[in-house]
Amino acid sequence: MATPLTADRFVAALRAEGVTVVEHDGWRTHNRNHVGTFGPVVGVMIHHTVSAGTANTVEMCFNGYEGLPGPLCHGVIAKDGVVHLVANGRANHAGGGDPSVLQAVITETYGEQPPAPRVHQGSAGAVDGNSRFYGFECVNLGDGADPWPAEQLLAIERVAAALCRAHGWGARSVIGHKEWSDWKDDPRGFAMPTMRGRVQTRLDKGPAKPAKPTPTPPKQPTAEPFPGASFFHKGQSSAVITAMGRRLVAEGCSAYTSGPGPRWTEADRLSYAKWQRKLGFRGSDADGIPGPSSWAALHVPKTTR
Ligand SMILES: [Zn+2]
Repeated sequence: MATPLTADRFVAALRAEGVTVVEHDGWRTHNRNHVGTFGPVVGVMIHHTVSAGTANTVEMCFNGYEGLPGPLCHGVIAKDGVVHLVANGRANHAGGGDPSVLQAVITETYGEQPPAPRVHQGSAGAVDGNSRFYGFECVNLGDGADPWPAEQLLAIERVAAALCRAHGWGARSVIGHKEWSDWKDDPRGFAMPTMRGRVQTRLDKGPAKPAKPTPTPPKQPTAEPFPGASFFHKGQSSAVITAMGRRLVAEGCSAYTSGPGPRWTEADRLSYAKWQRKLGFRGSDADGIPGPSSWAALHVPKTTR
């Protein structure tokens, strides 16, 4: 039992699962909430339309027909796998059904199939399915001969998994209309237990391809950070000073007669002063004591200490 998804979350859930979605004009406010409630929802119901052609089927499911006002489902799953959204809220797709099936879906405690339904729309004991199920109409003649293309079956799998994932349901929350009402025979041409198996496999694989980028490992700094001017004093001994000296030599700023080495010496200071002058510093700015900008410009390789 769950609160129905908002239109935005509904679309996002489908797209995250890889569904190609087309939003019919007005679908976000199209429903039959004026005649009854929608929600809490318990599952997803799959139907076939007994029609051919995407455009006319989508219009029929949006508008309904004589004796059955639309919307007739939440989404139409075309033969090419594109899902056309036609309603947000209560839709005329499930009708009355078996309370024991409803219970089995809520608890997800059945084997291959829920208990065979013994009731239908209008019969004693039937419960309202339109308030409890998301409904998807699949374009198919329903004669058992009209093929179900792989793209369409994949879209059914994705749509069902998207809603199960969004609500934390397992695949047993996905049923066919014929598993709900003993008057119905849809969907015809594929087996619901097989489809539930596909949905569960998809759910078990974890979330669909996340939109989030692969985290890049933090870049190891390759240059020694400026240790501060006070680091450079008589008596200081560090591999950083050796690395600095080597860079000064490489830049043609050597005042060394031996080395460079780890101990801070007058030769280091004179060499660094050459570097500062090379950068354009003058006077006290070229006193040979490293500052942050001249240090950054020198690119002293990082030492392992
Ligand atoms: Zn149906």
